[in-house]
Amino acid sequence: MSHTVYIGIGSNIGDREKYLQQALVQLNKHEEVSVTNISSIYETDPVGYTNQAAFLNMAAELKTELPPLELLNVLQKIEHHLNRKREIHWGPRTIDLDILLYNDENIESEKLKIPHPHMYERAFVLIPLYEVNSNLILKTVNQPIGEIITELPDKEGVRLWKKNNGVGEFGLLES
Ligand code: AMP
Repeated sequence: MSHTVYIGIGSNIGDREKYLQQALVQLNKHEEVSVTNISSIYETDPVGYTNQAAFLNMAAELKTELPPLELLNVLQKIEHHLNRKREIHWGPRTIDLDILLYNDENIESEKLKIPHPHMYERAFVLIPLYEVNSNLILKTVNQPIGEIITELPDKEGVRLWKKNNGVGEFGLLES
């Protein structure tokens, strides 16, 4: 059975757009993963550790046969491959891949928490995710995604950077 998954992708070092693109290309190359929709790219002010460069963030919808932990493993291998260095918690990174939603499942393990614990309060996660699927209802808070975004305070820190023009397999990423 194919599972529907939403992921968040971010980068704030080097050629940020290329890291986003490479992550999607590598994901889609995996035999048991298909990238089925992507958002535009947004430039976002850093949250948490604020003394770092702005991020590019986007969201994607995947279909996969992989169970959650195996998918996490694939994402971490891609992060590793794209040279991610994790020195400061919430600090600069070439690529960050987070599983936001996996079907409607709730997972609470040491390695994996789904829905992603901070997603509800983060405009840089929810605004791209809304673009990928505006009909999502986030079960933990039992609210449509659009309603949560309306109530978020930090939306001006999230600016459209490159619009998904719908051209090519990955829209803007291959145009
Ligand atoms: P970060 O540095 O923010 O990318 O956090 C990476 C760590 O978060 C990894 O050790 C993962 O095991 C853990 N983690 C927990 N839940 C998730 C999730 N939903 N998606 C990605 N990583 C997760």
